[in-house]
Amino acid sequence: MDKVIGIDLGTTNSCVVLYDGGVAHVIPNAEGSRTTPSIVAFTGDGQRLCGNIAKRQAVANATHTVFATKRMMGRKFKSPEVQRIQMTSPFKIAAADNGDAVVVVHGKRYTPPEIGAFVLRQLRESAQEYLDQPITDAVITVPAYFDDNQRQATRDAGRLAGLNVMRIINEPTAAALAYGVSTDSSGIIAVYDLGGGTFDISILEFSGGVFQVKATHGDTFLGGEDIDARLMDALIEGFRAETNIDLYQDPVALQRLKDASERAKIELSTVEETEISLPFLTADNSGPKHLRRVLTRTELEQLTQDLVDQTIVHCQDALNAANVTNADITDVLMVGGMTKMPLVFNAVANFFGRTPNRTVNPDEAVAVGAAIQGAILAGDVGEVVLLDVNPLSLGIETSGGVFTKLIPRNVTVPVSITETFTTSEDYQPLVNIHVLQGERPLASDNTSLARFELVGIPPALRGVPKIEVTFAIDANGILQVSARDLGTKREQQVRVRATSGLSEAAIERILAEAEQYTDADRMNVELAELRRRVAGLIYTTERSLAESSNYLTESELEQIRADLESARRATESADMNKIQNTLRDLEKSAFRITEVMYRDFT
Ligand code: AMP
Repeated sequence: MDKVIGIDLGTTNSCVVLYDGGVAHVIPNAEGSRTTPSIVAFTGDGQRLCGNIAKRQAVANATHTVFATKRMMGRKFKSPEVQRIQMTSPFKIAAADNGDAVVVVHGKRYTPPEIGAFVLRQLRESAQEYLDQPITDAVITVPAYFDDNQRQATRDAGRLAGLNVMRIINEPTAAALAYGVSTDSSGIIAVYDLGGGTFDISILEFSGGVFQVKATHGDTFLGGEDIDARLMDALIEGFRAETNIDLYQDPVALQRLKDASERAKIELSTVEETEISLPFLTADNSGPKHLRRVLTRTELEQLTQDLVDQTIVHCQDALNAANVTNADITDVLMVGGMTKMPLVFNAVANFFGRTPNRTVNPDEAVAVGAAIQGAILAGDVGEVVLLDVNPLSLGIETSGGVFTKLIPRNVTVPVSITETFTTSEDYQPLVNIHVLQGERPLASDNTSLARFELVGIPPALRGVPKIEVTFAIDANGILQVSARDLGTKREQQVRVRATSGLSEAAIERILAEAEQYTDADRMNVELAELRRRVAGLIYTTERSLAESSNYLTESELEQIRADLESARRATESADMNKIQNTLRDLEKSAFRITEVMYRDFT
C-alpha cells in the first residue's frame, strides 16, 4: 500500500509527518522548517504564496495576506466569533450567499477550505519532494470539538489539495497516540493542547495500545492568537494615550503590531524582559510616530492570566465529565506551541499537582499521531484502537414532540445503534425522521440537524409497521442516519451535516440549560405523555364504539361522544388537571363500552 502521511492543519502552523519503520519523520518544508505557517498571500502580480514566504511579506502586503482561517471553518459571517476576528484582521471578510464567512482578496472570494487547501497542497508537495514519490493518502487532524460541518470542510480542503483523506482524527487523540506508541504502560492521561487558535483538554484512558477518550472539553476560540491580541490591545491603548492615534484603523500597523506581539511573547518564554520597537509605525501632521516599549514577563502574565485560567476551568470540567480526579491522572501531556509559555506550564502543573510531560515535541506531536494513524491504516503498524466520544446526545423526535435519544453523549465512537419505531396513526403513508442533538427531553428545545421522510409505508393500523432507525457515527465523527421499513425493505438515509457550528461554549450552554430547565422539562414531558395516553384512549374508544354502538342506548352514546370530544379539546390545552379529569371521564366511558360488549355473556 502507498505511504500515508499525517497532517496537523493548524490555525497558526501546520506540520506533516511520515511514520515509517517505527520512526516518525517530520518532513521539512522547502526552507528546511519543520512546521509551516498556515498563511496564504496573494501578490499584486497575481502570485499565490504560502507558508514562510507568505508570512515574511505579510507586513508589506497586509490586506492580501490571509491567516488563521481555520477559526472561520464552517462558521457564519454574522457569528460573534467571525465579527471578532474581523476587528483585528487586516484582510477583508465577507458573507457568502449561504451566510458562511469567506475572505475577499483582490475582489475574489475564497472559502476557508480553499485557503486550507493551499496550505495542504504545499505540505503535500514538500512530502513528495522529500520522499521522492507521489503522495495522495493522508490522515488530517481537527480540534476535538469541530462539528460535522467543520470536519466536512476539512475533508473538502484535503480533496481540493488532491489528497485522499483516509481519516479525520481529533488532535488530542492524535497527540496521545504519538505519546502512547512510545510506551507500553497503561493509565489515564490528560492531553492539554493550547495552540494558536484552539484549546482542547482530553482525558484518555489507555492500556496495551488501546486508547479511549473519556471526555473532551475546550474552546475553539482560545489560543495564542488571543494572547497576542491582548498584548496588541495594550500596545494600541498605550499608543492612543500618547498620540491620540487609533491604530485599529491602520491595517499595515496592525500587522506589524501582531508580529511584534507574537515575537515578544515567544521571547518572554525564555527571558524576563524584552523590548518592542516599531519605528515609523504611523504618522500624523506632526510627523512620523514610533512605538517603543519594554515589556516584562510579569506584565505579559498579568495581561493574559485570565485566559490561562479559563483553560484550567475547562480542565476541571473535563475531569468531572470523565468522572476522575487529579489523583487518577497518571500523566499530563503538553501539546501546542503555547505550552512553552511558563505561565501556561506552571498553571497546568499547579492544577494537576504534577510536572507535565514534554517528552513529545509540542509542535509536532499531533502530526506524529496522525502519521501513526496513517501507518496503521497502511498496515505498517499493528492494531492500535482509537476511540473518541460523541460530545452531545443524538436522537429523533417521537410522538408528542419528545426527544428520544439513540446515541447518548460521551459514548465512544465509532458507534452504531439501531432501534425499532412504529407509526402513530392508522394508514400513515410516511414517517418523518427529525434528527436532533442535545440534552433536553423535548425535541423543540434541542438543535435540529436534519429531517427526512420514509415514504411508501403500506396501509396499516397504527403500531403495526416496524421502522428500524439506525444512527451510526463513523471514525471521523460523521453521523449517518437511516430509516428502514422492515415490511417493504424500503430505506432512506441522510449524512447529517450540522446546520450550525457547535463550539465547546455552545455545548456547555446546552448542558447548562438542560440542568437549569430540569423541572420545567419534566412537566413538559409529563404533559406530552399525558396527551399521548389520552390520544391512545380516544383511538381505542372510537374503535370499540364503532363495533358496539348497536348495544348502547342513545344517552350512553351521547355521553361517550361528549367525553371523547372534551378529551380531544382538553389535549389542545396545557392544563394537566383538565386533561387528567377528561381522561378519567373517558376511561369510565371506555369501561362502559366494554361492560356492554360482555353484558350478554354474564
Ligand atoms: P500551534 O498552533 O501549536 O502551532 O501553536 C502556535 C502558537 O504557539 C502561536 O500562538 C505561537 O505564538 C505560540 N508559540 C510558539 N512557540 C512559543 C514559545 N516558545 N512561547 C510562547 N508561545 C509560543
